[in-house]
Amino acid sequence: MAYNKKQQFKSRRTSLMSQISDGAIIIGASHNSPRNNDVDYEFRQNSTFWYLTGFDEPDAVLVLRPHHKDQCVIFVNPYDPQFEIWVGARLGVDAAPENLEIDAAYPISELDDQLPRLLEDIETVHYSIGSDSKLDDLMMNLVQKRRGLSQRGGVHLLRIEDPKPAIDRMRLVKSEAEVELVQAAIDVTRVGFENAMRVTKPGTFEYQVQAEMESHFRKLGSVRNGYPSIVASGTNSCILHYINNREQLKDGSLLLIDAGAEYDYYTADITRTWPVNGNFTPAQKEVYEIVLASQSAGINAISPGIEFNEVHIASLRVLVQGLIDLGALEGSIDGLIESRAYLPYYMHGTSHWLGLDVHDAGPYRDEDRSISLEQGMVFTVEPGLYFGNQATESPEHLKGIGIRIEDNVVVTTEGHSVLSGTILSSVSDIEELVGSV
Ligand code: MN
Ligand code: MN
Repeated sequence: MAYNKKQQFKSRRTSLMSQISDGAIIIGASHNSPRNNDVDYEFRQNSTFWYLTGFDEPDAVLVLRPHHKDQCVIFVNPYDPQFEIWVGARLGVDAAPENLEIDAAYPISELDDQLPRLLEDIETVHYSIGSDSKLDDLMMNLVQKRRGLSQRGGVHLLRIEDPKPAIDRMRLVKSEAEVELVQAAIDVTRVGFENAMRVTKPGTFEYQVQAEMESHFRKLGSVRNGYPSIVASGTNSCILHYINNREQLKDGSLLLIDAGAEYDYYTADITRTWPVNGNFTPAQKEVYEIVLASQSAGINAISPGIEFNEVHIASLRVLVQGLIDLGALEGSIDGLIESRAYLPYYMHGTSHWLGLDVHDAGPYRDEDRSISLEQGMVFTVEPGLYFGNQATESPEHLKGIGIRIEDNVVVTTEGHSVLSGTILSSVSDIEELVGSV
């Protein structure tokens, strides 16, 4: 368990309290989720709770009260010697304040009694209703109780507001330390991809390539993936979130892998597409070069001050021109974008925020405009072209081809930096590496 970097978590709480300076802020941790009998699914803390605490145990509740003596209070599972024998040590109530740089800690079993007391003179509670059914119930009871009391006067109604927009806005702009963690996740992911390319050959199963890649993730310090790996060969490459990963690689087809190692809670999100036998066919290569050029156009557009959506438009224009050149579409770039005629071949966005979550927190729009890019924003650029079953008008020789190339970028003061730029993507580099074991 990582209780280091306490100051960083504390300063985030301070910053949040300077933005939401009235009342109280309540954030719940994740709970274990049962798989069967006494076995749970692997636990991972929800990212916002982690972002504010660095605490990776289930069931905890964080209560921030900007204007109270105990500003920062946490409810945790108690230390339990029996639990330690079976599962491992919990931090416990006594050790929590010092370990988490928090003012006071209580056992979670006291939440029902302590929370009304902590919120006694508070009018506004910032809590995301719907995020936790137990906390939802508690808040509803409090609201009801307060309503009854206010009838007799002297007690205010309890107002509930959502702190999510403020927290998400904080999470959107990454500190240098956070960018370093994303970089670390990417560096691990790079080694996994290179080895996946090396072992790719006809006859291998998708999950076997996956095992090779993920074994390198683990060896290099990534305890889990940021999301389930997409290892999609042949026409599976046209299925955007294919995670079945059970098919055998066929000579002459492509393999698309979209994967990211998680490193200290931050994830990479990388996609590469390569030929199973190490050589692109002319048709595969033609589509590949279009997607690669589209990605370059998107990346080159990135600098502080431009709108987020401009990256998408820059990439999309190259894709649409490519679809015209390939004979898949007819018309002008502007007309085809206007009519969205490209949708059968390109149906997803070009970019999303990246950080603690693969589709990270943060707004994409500011009022009625696409959000302006700022230094420290980290996101993907991932154009693709898919000639799957949905693209019924596909030229015959392109059918079954699905190609996506995804890299991760940070906005800098000057422009941008491609954090995953060392993961090879040119046709010649890929052809050299694939199957080279
Ligand atoms: Mn991806
Ligand atoms: Mn992505």
